Amino acid sequence: MARSSMPPRAAVSATQARRVDPDADRSHDHNSCVATLLDRARQSFDKHGLRLTPLRQRVLEEIAASHDAMGAYDVLDRLSRRTGERVAPISVYRAIDALLQAGLVHRLESRNAFFACHAPHLNRQRHMALVCDACAKVVEVPAADLYDSIDAASDANGFQLKSAVAEGSGLCATCRIQEHPS
Ligand SMILES: [Zn+2]
Ligand SMILES: [Zn+2]
Ligand SMILES: [Zn+2]
Repeated sequence: MARSSMPPRAAVSATQARRVDPDADRSHDHNSCVATLLDRARQSFDKHGLRLTPLRQRVLEEIAASHDAMGAYDVLDRLSRRTGERVAPISVYRAIDALLQAGLVHRLESRNAFFACHAPHLNRQRHMALVCDACAKVVEVPAADLYDSIDAASDANGFQLKSAVAEGSGLCATCRIQEHPS
């Protein structure tokens, strides 16, 4: 996995991240995940003649601060804790909506929460979200076969399918090791 190819520099930034932000994901060089996502955000908004406004960017940065799913009110809380500024919930919802439309953030339907998309695709197409019950981390994995089955089952029933989401919950690889070290 990418972890083994991590440059030594990353270990230094992980230590710094621990001091700066206790919520940061320290299992890998997450700064590069965030940087890639912000680049994608600028390109995606540009392409649609829209702007990555300061609020949209801050909301995206909060959601992308880790690979965890978080509710809209968590986003609002973190935003006001960090900036000391009060933002109206409706403004945060609108920013999240814009990020959803742009495919930069996805809604976790089973938990009414949001997570940053680190897979370069639009609208979660044919991916499945795996959510950890212990640490709330979300991983998107390709699941084309699964969606083919859903399409076939819908067709077989004369059902015109508009959307389908696949989400699984359980324990991520890191939490499994922590629960059962061996
Ligand atoms: Zn990351
Ligand atoms: Zn995605
Ligand atoms: Zn976990």
